[in-house]
Amino acid sequence: MRQGTRITLEGLSKQYADQTAVHHMNLDVAGGEFVVLLGPSGCGKTTTLRLVSGLDTPSAGDIAFDGHTVANLPVQQRNVGLVSQRFNLFPHMRVYDNVAFGLSVRGVGASEIRERVHVMLEAVQLVPYADRFPSQLSGGQMQRVAIARTLVTEPKVLLLDEPFASLDTSLRMEMRSFLKELQRDMGMTTLLVTHDQTEAMDLADRIAVMFDGHLAQVGVPEDVYHHPISERVARFMGASNIAPATMVSPDCIDTPWGKLQVAKADVGAGSCKAMVRYEAIGISLDKEPLLNGPANRLSGTITSIEFLGPVKRCTVQVGAECLIADQPSTSSLQVGQPVAVLICPDHIGLLRK
Ligand code: ATP
Repeated sequence: MRQGTRITLEGLSKQYADQTAVHHMNLDVAGGEFVVLLGPSGCGKTTTLRLVSGLDTPSAGDIAFDGHTVANLPVQQRNVGLVSQRFNLFPHMRVYDNVAFGLSVRGVGASEIRERVHVMLEAVQLVPYADRFPSQLSGGQMQRVAIARTLVTEPKVLLLDEPFASLDTSLRMEMRSFLKELQRDMGMTTLLVTHDQTEAMDLADRIAVMFDGHLAQVGVPEDVYHHPISERVARFMGASNIAPATMVSPDCIDTPWGKLQVAKADVGAGSCKAMVRYEAIGISLDKEPLLNGPANRLSGTITSIEFLGPVKRCTVQVGAECLIADQPSTSSLQVGQPVAVLICPDHIGLLRK
């Protein structure tokens, strides 16, 4: 059940002396929803979180929690938990006391504090470090204390600024699932900032992509990934087989790779861009025509292969351009081999801008 606070940003703007960090942002976050603000460095993500938390004041626009404006409320009256990039731990307090602090100031009883702090330290795997001071911890451990200290107070709104940035890959995965589970159980409305599109897709109910202080696209991860609104969003979401295309008929486009059948051309006549994801391309050594299903079949030559663990990333020269395709890492493809490149019409995206 969702219990979190609904957050509404209306025409939210933040102007610094010489630049607009956030520009007329409109965003509605449902109670209990997990929204990830995704964008490159400097696009205004942290500023947006600071405005929602109350650490900064908007230059224009409004922020409402459950329909009531909070734009003029100080931080402590907003019931938000903020985990910032700088951990802001109390250096003179041990890990246990850092985590217990928020509960003590709220007047929670001693035995309940002990229990809740222990549960939280277990969750972030820091029980053995309870008696250490922050200066005796690694960066990742400090980050986990900061997360535990915020979550233990069970805020209605949780704001996280790159919370996993300094963790190693396996701990980052663990912390992500821990956060997802806790967020689902506690139902707090969550805004998380990251520039990592994989993290965004893993965590978000919806992703809000930001560039230059503007919201470029807001949608569920599958939608933003498969139907990016622009080339810029597509590239930020990891797409890189993108080339200019011209419509030659309602279901056919001309590209530097050759003519391709497409499933639906709802971009109108004229020129656009074609996008094909690495994982949507098949490579075959077989020269025979395909027996099953409609697929575009192009001829090419493998020019390079990168071994990435789960996949082999193959670059194939096709016509005037290269196409990059991920193949199973067990495949025996070799550089220099002539191959057939197979692309299903359903997997070709068309971008207008
Ligand atoms: P990062 O991922 O690098 O943390 P970000 O997307 O969070 O970046 P912000 O920190 O919100 O970006 O900054 C947005 C823009 O506003 C940047 O160009 C930054 O230089 C500028 N900015 C942020 N804070 C201030 C400030 N206090 N005074 C002046 N400009 C600022």
